[in-house]
Amino acid sequence: MSCGERLARELRAEGYRVTPQRAVILETVAHASGHRSAQEVFERARQRLPGLNLATVYRTLETLDRAGLVDLLSTGSQPMRFSLHDPSRPHAHLVCRSCGGVCDIDLDLFTALTHTVASRHGFTLDRDHIVLTGLCEACRKGRGAATEGEGGVRG
Ligand SMILES: [Zn+2]
Ligand SMILES: [Zn+2]
Repeated sequence: MSCGERLARELRAEGYRVTPQRAVILETVAHASGHRSAQEVFERARQRLPGLNLATVYRTLETLDRAGLVDLLSTGSQPMRFSLHDPSRPHAHLVCRSCGGVCDIDLDLFTALTHTVASRHGFTLDRDHIVLTGLCEACRKGRGAATEGEGGVRG
């Protein structure tokens, strides 16, 4: 079974109809790896779905997020990013406010924080939604360029 077929089956299992847009966009996110903007997903997906538009891509990604197949990463200042939901690899995110680079970090870094917040405030943190913003090493050293290859637009 191809990756796309497996994902389509998961989508159906969640009670969603598998439209060509949903299938292609889901597979695009899966194959793009990492955290992609809707614009990047759109650029790739429209090669397979001529006539696709960015608004549809946004709507579809939001649906896939609700279905639990895609994770949505929102940082306020940067465009939203989407990645394939991987239950076997929960993680939090570091987002650079200068270059927009995204880095995954282990949740065990937050174990102590989670306990402290729970005991002092009676509040349970959603650790897989933690996004910390700051300056990445390259930007801090003034080199600036995103080396991850994210957001690179070629002419
Ligand atoms: Zn940076
Ligand atoms: Zn991530």
